[in-house]
Amino acid sequence: MNSHYRTKAAAVLFAFAFLSCKMLFCQDIPRCATGKYPPLHHGVSNAFEKLTIDTDSKNNIEHRSEITIPVVFHVLYYSEGENLPDAVLIDQLERLNKDFNGKNSDAQKTPSIFQGFMGSLPVRFCLATQAPDGEPSSGIIRKHTTLKKIGLTDNLFFEERGGSTAWNTDVYLNIWIADTGDRVTGYSSIPTTDFLGTGRDGVVLNPNIVGRNQSFRYGLGRVLVHEVGHYLGLLHIWGEQEGCVSDDNVEDTPFQNSPNYGCPLGNLVSCGSMDMSMNYMDYVDDDCMYFFTKGQVERMKSVLNELRPQLGRGLSYCSNLKSKGNFQVIPNPSNGLVTLNFDDSYISFGPLEVYDNLGRNVYRKEAVFTPGYQIDLSLLSPGLYYLKFKGTIEKIVII
Ligand SMILES: [Zn+2]
Repeated sequence: MNSHYRTKAAAVLFAFAFLSCKMLFCQDIPRCATGKYPPLHHGVSNAFEKLTIDTDSKNNIEHRSEITIPVVFHVLYYSEGENLPDAVLIDQLERLNKDFNGKNSDAQKTPSIFQGFMGSLPVRFCLATQAPDGEPSSGIIRKHTTLKKIGLTDNLFFEERGGSTAWNTDVYLNIWIADTGDRVTGYSSIPTTDFLGTGRDGVVLNPNIVGRNQSFRYGLGRVLVHEVGHYLGLLHIWGEQEGCVSDDNVEDTPFQNSPNYGCPLGNLVSCGSMDMSMNYMDYVDDDCMYFFTKGQVERMKSVLNELRPQLGRGLSYCSNLKSKGNFQVIPNPSNGLVTLNFDDSYISFGPLEVYDNLGRNVYRKEAVFTPGYQIDLSLLSPGLYYLKFKGTIEKIVII
């Protein structure tokens, strides 16, 4: 290859890398825009400043054996590609549950110096099975929007302005998935009066970084882990002002000069101590952050007790994604258009598969299944089929 072609090839490669980075958040795009979005109307320069909670009041912490938080996803898609499948949302919830409970397999990568600090919050995030009006729900709202980058505007939170109105923010964790442009991965509300009870209380995520995804830096779904940390009252590990002058008000996290990026190998020192860069509240890449500390967990418990007292008591609103798949198919025989009825208003996620008489897989659907879910098998030839869901098999006849 002569030098002319080498230069050309390098230029093409560079352009490709630049474009794909732009699309997939691998440049210097910060992990989070909490405090900057949504733009508040009453001149709060730093939303974190108002978050004052006494995390030393440990005597006031009510020890709940389990905290169950029903989640509602508002998927607001401009293009079809932003209308993420149920499977991606479930994958995202699993990441949240693993990381908050300290069940993430990469926790073992934590440097030994910090292992004694690792904490876990006994919390379960689940898809909401009941809407505020009492109707059964999948916990997933899907709406097409004609507004570009609605995720950066206040319209996001209002049905009448093309967005999706929050469900009771005292009880549900609302997560909006909507275009936030190329520079913002996501942001969260903070439990202060700027957000509590305003209908803007929850988390906003860019559709490109939900669940396991193709982003170079944020490919494991940990933007949401970081944002839910804010939602439950955690600050960035360096506090909100760089230069060793502010703190995150958590005792067991060291002072830190500023955010860390990329993947430090656990050997960075600032403010006279080693940086805890692998904490979820730093800015490092997804595959280089592994834990919350015990002190952060205590702070989240304090916030739940004092600022979000109704959140986390949602057992009756929660799906049990591990239930057995008992269901009936109605009608049977049918012309192929059938309704699935699950026991006990049962809601579940999983692949639903149909096999023909020769054992060939002729239909497959991955979705969150709610009572009354309809599937269309009318393209199948008349005959006997086997419908399989979570180990339960029903014979169905198409005529
Ligand atoms: Zn943040």
